[in-house]
Amino acid sequence: MPTEDADAAKQWTIMRLLRWTADYFSGHGIDTPRIDAEVLLAHCLGLSRIDLYLRHDQPLEQGELARFRELVRRRARREPVAYITGGKEFWSLELQVSPHVLIPRPETELLVEQALEVMGPRKEAVALELGTGTGAISLALASQRPGWWIAASDISPEAVALARANAVKHGLEGRVSFFVSDWLAAVATTEPQFDLIVSNPPYIRSREIGRLEPEISSYEPRLALDGGVSGLECLTRIISAAGPCLKAGGFILLEIGHDQKDAAESLFRDRGVYHQVTTVRDYGGSWRVVMGRKKDAG
Ligand code: GLN
Repeated sequence: MPTEDADAAKQWTIMRLLRWTADYFSGHGIDTPRIDAEVLLAHCLGLSRIDLYLRHDQPLEQGELARFRELVRRRARREPVAYITGGKEFWSLELQVSPHVLIPRPETELLVEQALEVMGPRKEAVALELGTGTGAISLALASQRPGWWIAASDISPEAVALARANAVKHGLEGRVSFFVSDWLAAVATTEPQFDLIVSNPPYIRSREIGRLEPEISSYEPRLALDGGVSGLECLTRIISAAGPCLKAGGFILLEIGHDQKDAAESLFRDRGVYHQVTTVRDYGGSWRVVMGRKKDAG
């Protein structure tokens, strides 16, 4: 680590510190050492990443160096950058994150894109999101469709509180209503009330979680990752229970793992109430979003 010695500290300019930290992170098996060093240093100094370059030869003060040293220590233990900074961008919305929720992934933006596409330009709609976490998907949809009303649930009260805070941060609290529920348990399924249901549920097989990167396996909530022995348990619960509360012609879109296309499509087809069952690949080429449309009654 950079020394605390006052004379030596004078030498720690922004650029030198970035170089040192990126090397240090590389040595700890971190995938994106330079970007992580920049994000953490910018966060520590209250600057943007561009500012770091504009001020590349600015030396750090003792206090700044001490604060940065602690962030570097956490990242070297493979704590995700987003948990250290407390924020992550999704769909151009800066969201608060905490260890109670999954960090929003760029792949999940595909779910938002596809939902907007299948729903077309319709101005009014009622949507439901299950397992909202940070609120990312619902807030992205609300930011794009001012006339939609969205209900979004999570089993974790901490997640619901965080999602609400994110809605307030973006002035969307009047259009997204967050509530605690174990999937559809707290949702009235007696009448078809939703035009759209979306979810990025846990879909990793239980025994595979330990083999994921330490950022995921040691830090992200197991509750948000663990899809049971088959990985399909939550997808199955959602697809089985959602039918009655979806309007005829309404859509369900779910994020899935790259090897779950066939199984997830079968879950839809086996219910007999869905048609137009399709799966879409993400920008990395992996199957990512499965969808079905509720048939018209009769
Ligand atoms: N996409 C996440 C991952 O690969 C998993 C998210 C989930 O289970 N919903 O880590």
